[in-house]
Amino acid sequence: MNEHDSIDYTLKVKELNDNRSAKNGRKPLAFIHTYGCQQNVSDSEHIAGLLSQMGFEFTDDVKKADLALYNTCAVREHAEQRVFGNIGALKGIKDRNPDMIIAVCGCMTQQKQVAEKFKRSYPYVDLVFGTHALPKLPEMLYNVMTKGRVFELGGEDVVTEGIPVRRDSKFKAWLPVMYGCNNFCTYCIVPYVRGRERSRTTEAIMDEAKKLVADGAREITLLGQNVNSYGKDLGGTINFSQLLRKINAIEGDFLIRFMTSHPKDATSELFDTMAECEKVAKHLHLPFQSGSNRILKLMNRRYTKEKYLSLIQEVKEKVPGISLTSDVIVGFPGETYEDFCETLDVVRQVEFDNLFTFIYSKREGTPAAKMEDPVTHEEKTKWMAELLAVQEEISARNMAKRVGRTERVLCENVKDGTVFGRTNENLVVRFDGDESLLGKFVNVKITRSDRSALFGELQNI
Ligand code: SF4
Repeated sequence: MNEHDSIDYTLKVKELNDNRSAKNGRKPLAFIHTYGCQQNVSDSEHIAGLLSQMGFEFTDDVKKADLALYNTCAVREHAEQRVFGNIGALKGIKDRNPDMIIAVCGCMTQQKQVAEKFKRSYPYVDLVFGTHALPKLPEMLYNVMTKGRVFELGGEDVVTEGIPVRRDSKFKAWLPVMYGCNNFCTYCIVPYVRGRERSRTTEAIMDEAKKLVADGAREITLLGQNVNSYGKDLGGTINFSQLLRKINAIEGDFLIRFMTSHPKDATSELFDTMAECEKVAKHLHLPFQSGSNRILKLMNRRYTKEKYLSLIQEVKEKVPGISLTSDVIVGFPGETYEDFCETLDVVRQVEFDNLFTFIYSKREGTPAAKMEDPVTHEEKTKWMAELLAVQEEISARNMAKRVGRTERVLCENVKDGTVFGRTNENLVVRFDGDESLLGKFVNVKITRSDRSALFGELQNI
């Protein structure tokens, strides 16, 4: 498909929609539901951009929708069951409105057995497409509208530029810098559904970043499954730290965040860059997953507990006051209580501000799914409770240390006279205020804290 074809199909669908609008006295409405990670949120913003060009408007009420699209996640089996449940619930709506188009996309559909299930057991689902097929949405939709069901699951590991985007926020933006993953952690389905690592060109990223800043973005989050390996496929012309420096040099008052980092690719150069670039947020999310070297090996993470702790020590020295967060898996196949205690030890030593904790969830198609897993879910739940108790105490202690400081806060949301914002370190702050503050940086004096938020008073602005 070339750009010209895509524009052709966009116009063709728009024409069909215009005819429909003339008949119904309103524009067709699209409902988009997104599961999973920020990459999916970003993909949905591009889907919305394409749909907008094709003449759709948007609704939060699936019952009013002419097109209901579910952008799915394959990381957890539980989430997949929820998707099947939600799609099942659409049958009644479609019975009452047979013209409604139901579409499912994202990582889940990239798995053959899932696509087969939609084909066989969900005859009212009109369109199923994988992560690689997103740029072809206009063509696929045109075929659904004129011919019938479409299943588009293949596709190559390419980077398509120029897809329009309709962003959820005016001042917070997701900016993908690379797609896919080469790491094959043994519990993870991502490399199988999102393909191999491929970086966007520096020019494309810089153009988008400059435009975002010019359009008023106050926070730009660079996205990739493993951002630290950005540029490895661009012939050694640039690496992630250099990209950060380039974006940092764009004129304007904005923050740069990035996720996710893999410890094996986190370098001294990255930490120096974080220390030296004033726009790069002083927050590092560095998933360690397990503190046991035996389990790290089974996970194919390619670092040790000692290596991880030495990275943490280095970044703490180079970026004083940095906020650290991480992901942890409890109860990986074969993990013993002794292994779990190594995880607790890392948590105690690092003193993270926040942890994202998961009990191991089996993913068919990954090597870990075939490993012996003798520990019961009940036992793993007890370990998890122990971990959470340790982390909650650390979080509360870390937050309390910020009381009395004045923090620069980006105001993100307001509800019933309370503004919710985030500090440079990505900590949530609540204070009295109104809508006029949204999207602004303000100074807030922190007066108290709990384990998940800071509370404060707005200072003169
Ligand atoms: S780094 Fe590992 S956990 Fe992260 S996406 Fe790649 S394979 Fe999955």
